[in-house]
Amino acid sequence: MENIFKKLKKPVNENIYFIKNHKLFKNEILENKINDLDIEANILNIFRVINDYNFEYLKHDFSKCPNSTPGTKSTILFELKKIIFIEKKCHCYAHKFFSKNYLYRDFPNNSLHFNLYKESKNKKDKCLIIKPERNEILRYLKTFCTNISNYKQNPHIIMKGLFVCGPPSVGKTYIMTALANWLAKKNFKIAFANTTSFANELKSNFNTTITNKPSTLNIFKEAEVLFLDDLGNENNNSSWWRDDILFNLLDYRSKANLPTFISSNFNINQIKKIYAIHKEFTDNVQVDRLIKRILTLCEVKILKQIS
Ligand SMILES: [Zn+2]
Repeated sequence: MENIFKKLKKPVNENIYFIKNHKLFKNEILENKINDLDIEANILNIFRVINDYNFEYLKHDFSKCPNSTPGTKSTILFELKKIIFIEKKCHCYAHKFFSKNYLYRDFPNNSLHFNLYKESKNKKDKCLIIKPERNEILRYLKTFCTNISNYKQNPHIIMKGLFVCGPPSVGKTYIMTALANWLAKKNFKIAFANTTSFANELKSNFNTTITNKPSTLNIFKEAEVLFLDDLGNENNNSSWWRDDILFNLLDYRSKANLPTFISSNFNINQIKKIYAIHKEFTDNVQVDRLIKRILTLCEVKILKQIS
């Protein structure tokens, strides 16, 4: 990308001409009757806007922010005979700060752009599109988001999460990620994991020496809001996983009244069958108590295939 600031060495008239013909401002300058003297007085700031616009779609970390002021994005607004500059936070700034609130996160940095609501005009910041099949879930989340701020002051309010089930690629992970980002921005400490990766990580840590670092399981137990994505796909039919880990985790969280969100390709009845490992009576008891914890923690919502 060309360094726009090199142009500053060129004669002023040339730069005014360049600005007046730039696609970003051309019409606005005419419509708002901005004169050349005003443009001249603001050349540097206008170049900063062009620079930040040029890099708008470049994915980057805070340490490599290409904007004229790292972490900030300069934009411009025209009014009649008036130029107004507006500084917004660059997406990298938000990521640097709110991503700290993820105690555990296994989704890629790109998904930190997922928003629950339209919060910025940055086209790169995807937000959840209201689709009829998502309405019920989004309504629930809206109430959840309103109530959770009270929950911080009064942790006895029951904050039920969701068990979102539906076929693959209907947007379950997307919705969960968007909500997790919203909560992380509000300073809630979040753990977010794909259930399979979580199970594998616990398995691989099983025999390692004990350190002072809190164990992954403890992070998941204590996180203010927990997201378990894709439950039931972990292909781990051991009672260790079902009873010692999953049940233990969900039991702890339901007793501590800690909001928990689960997504799955399977409905509750299918989940029952998946975790009935030995198909014996004792098994049913274990499965039933697991399901009971899920239903205590979560409201079940079905996300249907988009027709
Ligand atoms: Zn940036």
